[in-house]
Order: sequence, then structure tokens, then C-alpha cells
Amino acid sequence: HAKRAGTHGWTTYDPAMTDRRAEDAALAEDLQHALDRGELHVVYQPIVDMTTGGAVGAEALLRWEHPTRGPISPVRFIPLAERTAMITRMGLWVLEQALTVRPAGSYMSVNLSPRQLQDPTLVHDVLSILHRTATAPSRLVLEITESALVDDTHAPTLQALREHGIRVAIDDFGTGYSSLQYLTRLPVDILKIDRAFVAELNGTPEGRAIAEAVIRLAQVLHLTTIAEGIETTDQALELQTLGCTRGQGYLYAKPLPAADLLTAMTATPTTTTIARQGA
Ligand code: C2E
Ligand code: MG
Ligand code: MG
Ligand code: MG
Repeated sequence: HAKRAGTHGWTTYDPAMTDRRAEDAALAEDLQHALDRGELHVVYQPIVDMTTGGAVGAEALLRWEHPTRGPISPVRFIPLAERTAMITRMGLWVLEQALTVRPAGSYMSVNLSPRQLQDPTLVHDVLSILHRTATAPSRLVLEITESALVDDTHAPTLQALREHGIRVAIDDFGTGYSSLQYLTRLPVDILKIDRAFVAELNGTPEGRAIAEAVIRLAQVLHLTTIAEGIETTDQALELQTLGCTRGQGYLYAKPLPAADLLTAMTATPTTTTIARQGA
């Protein structure tokens, strides 16, 4: 459906579009108060070493329980928060929650929005939270989406974070602009393979070839790979065959409330090692 008619600048009245804008505005307004009203909480998805099935870390994922609309996906509300300075406050709140509940011996991975990277006090704020929660910087990974990294303007900030011992991950790798050249220049440690590629593993040979190429690329660049959205044992085995040993997905654990995280991370692992295949 066309948002604009032709090249003459005439705008077609589109009720769906108008509804969406109105809903965006209403949600954005409600979101302003969500944090203060206690409507936000954080859930945690274990990140596992597929060869042992043991959890090595967890990713913090924000949740919003709207008082009348019920749960709203972060895919819907994060972009609204990103339009304003609100994302900075929310992002730091998630970080503090996550580091407060991090099980000893594991690391915590927290999503960072592109807008937060532009904030001149980001590095200082992150270090303050590490200090307040008595967390070693090596226990923190910050995830940044590929599209936020296509230009080099964020490189100094990423470099500063890394100089303090914080690791940086590229999230949803392969879904952004994919200028492979930038990868060699960026100061990053981890590459998270988007679940679209993991899903393709059980599809066509071409799909498998793409996943394989991404894993090879990461190896050449000495980056750790983490596969996202692993749902089947076949996918887990295939990834390990291709050289990716870390992953997260419903096969291992869904995102969990903080109270269940420690138990889940120390529970008997779901092993999907190649050695056990057919055993
Ligand atoms: P993401 O960072 O790539 O997070 C992974 C998403 O995949 C999560 O969706 C997770 O619940 C989902 N997932 C995990 N395993 C599976 C699986 O096996 N199958 C399927 N189908 N999905 C799986 P979620 O929690 O809805 O979050 C969506 C996105 O919202 C995140 O993608 C991230 O980009 C953003 N987000 C969430 N929390 C935050 C936050 O605190 N700050 C920022 N800036 N963004 C956030
Ligand atoms: Mg992420
Ligand atoms: Mg991701
Ligand atoms: Mg994603």
C-alpha cells in the first residue's frame, strides 16, 4: 500500500498509517512514565557453551507490561524510546538491574541503543554502574546492532569501553548494511549471528553456506561467535560442526525472570554435543 501517490507530492489518505502514528504517540507518552510506575522489568536469557550445555552468561532483555494494553514487545517500544532521550535512562536502568542480578562467575550481556553510543557521558555512566554493583568490567558485554556501526563515528567510544575491559558485541550480524570492510576496523570482540541465519541452517544449501561464511569470517577476524535463536538440536549440531560453539535460544532456555536465572544457569545442562550424537 502506497504512503504517497506518485511523484507529485500528493499524499493519499491512509487510515492504517494515521492509526499507527496515533498509537505511536500514545505509546511514547505512556512510555515516559513506565519506568517510574514500575511497569518495566528485565528478563534474562542464558548464553550457553553448546559443547558442555553449561551457561556462560546471560542477555538482559527489557519487558514492558502496559497497564491496559498488556505486554508490549521491545521491537515495538524500543524504537519509540530511541526517538527521545528516554532510551538513555532506560538503557542505564537495564544495565544496573542486570549487573545487580548477575550470577557469580558468569557474564552479563546488555543491549545498547545507537543513541546511547552518542551520549558523551556513556563511558562514565557505565563505569559508575560497574562500580556501584561491584562488577569487574570483564563481566560485562555491550551489544550494539550492526546498523549502528556502519560509520566510524562510534569507534572512539567503543575503543574507550574496551580499554576499560568491557567487551563489545555486534548484535544481529548480517541483517544490517553488511559493509564487510568496516568489520576489520571496528574495535569489537564478539559477533552475534542473527537468528535468521540459524533458521536457514535447516533450509537450503545456500542458507547453510551463508551461515558457514559468517562463522568463517568471524574466525579469521578472531571474533567469538554466538548464534542467536537456536530452536532445534539439529541447528545446534550444525553450528558446532561449522565452528560456532556458543549460542542462545529456546532450545536451551527462554528469557527468564531474575528470580529463576541462577537456578536455570546452574541446572543440568541440555547437551547437544557432536560427541553425543546418536548416543
Ligand atoms: P536481540 O538483542 O537480538 O535479542 C534477541 C531476541 O531474540 C529477543 O527478543 C529474544 O527473546 C529472542 N529469542 C531468543 N531466543 C529465541 C529463539 O530461540 N527463537 C526466537 N524466535 N526468538 C528468540 P526480544 O526480547 O523480543 O527483544 C527484541 C529486541 O529488542 C532485541 O533483539 C533488542 O534489539 C531489543 N531490546 C530488548 N531489550 C533491550 C534493551 O534493554 N535495550 C535495547 N536498546 N534494546 C533492547
Ligand atoms: Mg541483543
Ligand atoms: Mg540479536
Ligand atoms: Mg534481534
